[in-house]
Amino acid sequence: MSGAHAHPISALAFDIREVEEHEILVQTFERRSPMATGLRGRCPRCGQGHMFQGFLTFRPSCEACGLDYSGFNSGDGPAFFVMSIVGVIVVGLALWMEIAYEPPIWVHALVAGSLTIGLSLLLVRPLKGVLAALQFVNKAEQGRFR
Ligand SMILES: [Zn+2]
Repeated sequence: MSGAHAHPISALAFDIREVEEHEILVQTFERRSPMATGLRGRCPRCGQGHMFQGFLTFRPSCEACGLDYSGFNSGDGPAFFVMSIVGVIVVGLALWMEIAYEPPIWVHALVAGSLTIGLSLLLVRPLKGVLAALQFVNKAEQGRFR
């Protein structure tokens, strides 16, 4: 805002923005697919805000709808799924290469090594997003003693 000489129009625009923000907070959110929001790293409630800051760190909350992300905790889940998926792909490919081409061992090492690292980096963030979105949709929380 420009201080003492705020134009009436800009004051009005400010009010409208506040009302819109309020509406976002109070409206009931349509149910979103945890796949659609999670794979893109978007907020599982509104689909607009971002889930991550940096590569794998959750933001404290959604910048668009204010959903609190502090309960998100996928633990080792993403790593487990990444290992399972990448393992099957890399081993399958290595077997196929061996049967089809019988390449020297350094080719196996090169292909399997770079594929394992590349695929893992590619998959871990979307998988973490999907797991967090599933957690939100299913309202899963850490068990607590009362
Ligand atoms: Zn949101």
